[in-house]
Amino acid sequence: MHTTGNLVADTICRTAEIGLTITDAADAGLFTAIDAAPVAVDDQCPGCKHPGVLRDHVTRQLADLPVVGFPTRLHVRVPRFTCANDACGRKIFQASLAHVLTTGRN
Ligand SMILES: [Zn+2]
Repeated sequence: MHTTGNLVADTICRTAEIGLTITDAADAGLFTAIDAAPVAVDDQCPGCKHPGVLRDHVTRQLADLPVVGFPTRLHVRVPRFTCANDACGRKIFQASLAHVLTTGRN
């Protein structure tokens, strides 16, 4: 299990088990909004296996499930990279959440 800066929240929401850490949370009225980010990121281009250059981030909504009795939306900030290998056909790629979710389980 990964240790994070927000161990209580990660323990309650069990985000550490899936390789994420909570970065923010808010009461959004009808639901609780939780922002999270991967603890470890794989920057390797899936096309050529070279490391990518950080380009920006996108937000993915992974789940809409009850936490402590309230509907909860988990928003994960995922980095996107640019492949700097001119010989590679892939120019932009995002860190794989499947990899994060797989390697986060222990
Ligand atoms: Zn590449």
